[in-house]
Amino acid sequence: MAETPDTGGRPEHVAECTACGRVYPVRSDADGELRPIGTDGACVCGNETFAALGEAEETGE
Ligand SMILES: [Zn+2]
Repeated sequence: MAETPDTGGRPEHVAECTACGRVYPVRSDADGELRPIGTDGACVCGNETFAALGEAEETGE
């Protein structure tokens, strides 16, 4: 509940970086790509591919 998305919109799902396994709240952009909220569209590791995990929820991270 402490997270404040700063790129607009609300997190709709959560997804995991396919490279390093970090989990982000994400939204689907106009092309259907998963975009992590609060970043420039890529994971901090530089990967831009995410695997959807399901509905957004507290991850306890
Ligand atoms: Zn990553």
